Amino acid sequence: MTEKTIGVLALQGGYREHGAHLRDCGIEPVYVTRPEELDQCAGLIIPGGESSCLRRLLRGFEVDTAIVNAVKQDGMHVWGTCAGAILCADSVVGEEPCLGLIECEIERNIFGSQLSSFYEEVSIPGICETKERLVYIRAPGIRRIWGKTRSILTSHDVITAAENDQVLVTSFHPELSETRAFHFYFIAKCGLASHDARPHEWTRTAWMERG
Ligand code: GLN
Repeated sequence: MTEKTIGVLALQGGYREHGAHLRDCGIEPVYVTRPEELDQCAGLIIPGGESSCLRRLLRGFEVDTAIVNAVKQDGMHVWGTCAGAILCADSVVGEEPCLGLIECEIERNIFGSQLSSFYEEVSIPGICETKERLVYIRAPGIRRIWGKTRSILTSHDVITAAENDQVLVTSFHPELSETRAFHFYFIAKCGLASHDARPHEWTRTAWMERG
C-alpha cells in the first residue's frame, strides 16, 4: 500500500488553495470526491465554502458516512476550515449537525454578513510563534465546547479554533494568507513529515498558477 497523505475534500469551496499550501509544506495532496479516495488519507481537510451546499454534496456523493467511518474506525484526522468547521461540529445552532466529529456547538455567520468579514494578526503558542494574518469570511464561531475539546483561539469573545486529538476546527482561512503554520501543525497532528517546499514568493493568487 502506498504511503498515506493528506486529502482535501474537493466538492466545493477553497480546496485548491489548501492544496497549494500543502505542496508548500512538501505534501502532495489527494483531492477527494469519492469515498474510496479516503483510503489514501491520514488526514482530510474540509475547506471553506458554503456549508449548506457542501452538506448536500457530501450526502449526494456518499462521502459523509465514509468520512465518519474513516475517523472512527481508521483513526483518520480531519481539519475543517470555516464551512468545513460547521460540518465537523456535533451541534450547529438552528440546524441538524452534519458529520458530528467534535464536541462543540457552532453558529454560522456569527460575526455578521459578508461585509463584516475581517482579518486579525495573532500568534498562537505551539502553532504560530510569530504573528500571522488570519482571514475571517462570513465566519462561524464556536459558542460552547465540552468533553475532550480544547479551545485554541478566541476572537471577539468567540472561540475560533478548537481541537480534540483527531479533529481540528478553525473559523478562519489560513489557506488564504501567507502562513503555512496551521498546515504544518495539521500535518504533524496526522503523524506525517513535512518540509519547507515553497518554490517562490507567496502571492494571493499563487494557487491559480500551480493548481
Ligand atoms: N458562511 C458560510 C456557511 O455558513 C461559511 C463561509 C466560509 O466558509 N467562508 O457555510
